[in-house]
Amino acid sequence: MLAVKAFAKINLTLSVGRKRSDGYHDLESVMQQLELHDLLEFVITKDEISLTTENTEVPTGSDNLIVKAAELLRRHTGCLWGARIRLFKNIPVAAGLGGGSADAAATLIGLNNLWGLGLSMDRLLELGARLGSDVPFCLFGGTALARGRGEVLDRLPEASPMGVVLVKPGFSVSTAEAYRMFDDLPDPEVYDAQTMVLGLHEGDFETIAQALHNDLERATFTMHPELPQLKDGLLGAGAAGALMAGSGPTIFGLAPSPEEARRIADRLEHPGLSVWATTTAAF
Ligand code: ATP
Repeated sequence: MLAVKAFAKINLTLSVGRKRSDGYHDLESVMQQLELHDLLEFVITKDEISLTTENTEVPTGSDNLIVKAAELLRRHTGCLWGARIRLFKNIPVAAGLGGGSADAAATLIGLNNLWGLGLSMDRLLELGARLGSDVPFCLFGGTALARGRGEVLDRLPEASPMGVVLVKPGFSVSTAEAYRMFDDLPDPEVYDAQTMVLGLHEGDFETIAQALHNDLERATFTMHPELPQLKDGLLGAGAAGALMAGSGPTIFGLAPSPEEARRIADRLEHPGLSVWATTTAAF
């Protein structure tokens, strides 16, 4: 049996370009891996691929990115082995934290190993990009600047571990819907990720917290006008900066230490709200 962790991510910055002719958007994003993770267990089988999980929000058939990743690997390599896969889901689903993408990346890494395929990281990155725009970063890990559709990655220096508070309301947001709304709104002001990149190079927590930016915030906030209050709530509880995670609806807040994140999370506990305290993860 092989166990692999699948780490959640946040976008410290996310700039979205206009929709391209192939339907995708060009992105520029400073991405950061979190300690919060799912766990995947793999057991080799003769040919069948099966997935089980106790989480009822996650499909277990061919819609699951874990199954898609396993099938893509087999198609790509001609490998005939199968796998029995168990998913222990801790990352909230459809929350903007890249849980499905993290699981897909962990599957590529796990099965490359279990099936003895010997694929290079470059090849895994290529396959990951076919599964979803966040998958390459989930393979890459740490802190990185992602461009293109998310497949062009440059490693950035990691800030010393920051505390991260995650607050999720009782509903989910579909990424596709957030992008549709984004396309209907006027162009956002051009945002330059340079301040964030500089903050990371200097390891300056305050600069990082002040430079948070997400172009999708306006789109998801238009659909869910109660979300800005959650953001204000995080700032009011002591977060140094707060931002919507990915396409939402989770809002994250930054704290200078894991202990401070725990204190902020305790202040926010509220019925109907899920709150986590985690930290940024190093590569
Ligand atoms: P993204 O921003 O990458 O679209 P997200 O973090 O907002 O993702 P996910 O948790 O990845 O959201 O889930 C999005 C949808 O993908 C879910 O509604 C679910 O039906 C489907 N899905 C497929 N595979 C998985 C998986 N392994 N874990 C969670 N959801 C999955």
